[in-house]
Amino acid sequence: MAETIFTKIIDRDIPADIIYEDDEVLAFNDINPQAPTHFLVIPKKPIATINDIAAEDAELIGKMYLAAASIAKEMGFEQNGYRAVMNCNPDGGQTVYHIHLHVLAGKAMGWPPYQDALKQDLP
Ligand code: 5GP
Repeated sequence: MAETIFTKIIDRDIPADIIYEDDEVLAFNDINPQAPTHFLVIPKKPIATINDIAAEDAELIGKMYLAAASIAKEMGFEQNGYRAVMNCNPDGGQTVYHIHLHVLAGKAMGWPPYQDALKQDLP
């Protein structure tokens, strides 16, 4: 897999506002926040997309959610709530090909998440 900007963040080759780290997972604030709180939880293991998650990665993916929930509790927004979302490939809006869980909080999120949602567009 080609190296991404997130590998450089893991390796401390470029700076990031890191808010959580353990042996397998790293979390840092998004450089272009889409909510009052917006951070990314990534595995240190480079996995390009959701489609590339192997069965052996199941526990690692669970640890990403555990980290997200732990940070939410620490930051105090776990009861108000938040959105945790992973984009996949172009239609999903993925731009960095190292999986990451977006965690957005601090305001009520809309649904559906896309602006041009019209019932007639749906199958
Ligand atoms: P995607 O579009 O792949 O779902 O999300 C990639 C996210 O990474 C975007 O929200 C973008 O703002 C964030 N991002 C891209 N480059 C950097 C960077 O160098 N530092 C940080 N902290 N976030 C980044």
